[in-house]
Amino acid sequence: MNKIGIYFAYWEKCWKADYAKYVRKASGLGFDVLEVEASALLDMSFDEKRILARLAKDNGVELTFCIGLPSMYDIASDDESVRKNGIEFVKRLLEAIYVTEGDMLGGILYSCWPKVDESYDNKMRLWENSVRSVRKVSQTARDYGITYCLEVVNRFEQLLLNTVKEGMEFVDQVGSPNVKLLLDTFHMNIEEDYIGGSITSAKGYIGHFHIGECNRKPPGTGHMPWDEIFGAIKKIGYEGRIVMEPFIKPGGEVGRDIRVFRDLGEGCDEEEMDGMVVNALEFVRRKLREV
Ligand code: MN
Repeated sequence: MNKIGIYFAYWEKCWKADYAKYVRKASGLGFDVLEVEASALLDMSFDEKRILARLAKDNGVELTFCIGLPSMYDIASDDESVRKNGIEFVKRLLEAIYVTEGDMLGGILYSCWPKVDESYDNKMRLWENSVRSVRKVSQTARDYGITYCLEVVNRFEQLLLNTVKEGMEFVDQVGSPNVKLLLDTFHMNIEEDYIGGSITSAKGYIGHFHIGECNRKPPGTGHMPWDEIFGAIKKIGYEGRIVMEPFIKPGGEVGRDIRVFRDLGEGCDEEEMDGMVVNALEFVRRKLREV
C-alpha cells in the first residue's frame, strides 16, 4: 500500500519552520510521510539534521523534501554563472538531504519557480540548458541514493514542463535512472485532457505524487475525479508515496507564493485543520482500498 503524507506548509505561513513540531503532528494524525521544504536544511547544523532524522524515525514518519528553485539558482538560465550557482546550490541541498537520511527531492528542480515571464521562442533553448544541468546534478543525487523528481506544473507557474508528456520527454533526454517525475493532481487538472490516461501513460516514470483538489483544499472535499486518479495509480502499480499538499490559509510567505487570497478554511482553527486532513487521509486510504 502506498505511504500517505502531508506537506508541512498546510499549517505554516513561512517556508522555514519548526519541522520537529510537524513530524510529531503528522505522526499523531496517522500520516506515514511528512514533506518539508528542502532549503531550510541549509540553515541547520549537521547535528540538527541528524536529530530531525532521528525524530522522524522514532515517530514512524518518512521525510520527503521539495523545493521550487529560486530565480538566482535557475539551472535552465541562459546565464552560465546563474546555472553554475544553481547546480552548486542543488548539490548542497542533496548533501543536506543525505545527512537527514532522505531519499527523495521533488519540485521545480529543472529551472526556477515561478518562471512564466518568457517567450515561447526561448523555450527549447532553456529546455536544453536544463537537460544538461539536470544531468549534472542527477549524478550527485545518485551518489547519495536520492531520487530526483521533476514536478510537472501548470503554465501559470512554469513554462518548461506543463504536461506529463513533456515531463516524460525531458526525463528520456536526461537519461538518468534516478530522475523521475513528480505528478500533482492540482496541476494536471489544468493541463491534461484526461488525468487518468496521463497517469497510466507515465508508468515507470513516476517517482513521487502530490494530491489536492482543484482549489487546493484537502482531497475528498471537491470535484477532482478521485476514482479515475486512484484507479490509474493502481492500474500502473505505482506503490510509491502519495503526499497531499493542501493550502487553505491566506497570509504570510506561503499564502503569497501559493496565491491564497481568501480563507478557504472559513475561519477554522488549527484543531479543525487537523480534523480536515485526518478526514482526507481516511478518504485517500479508503479510495486506494476500494477502486
Ligand atoms: Mn505539488
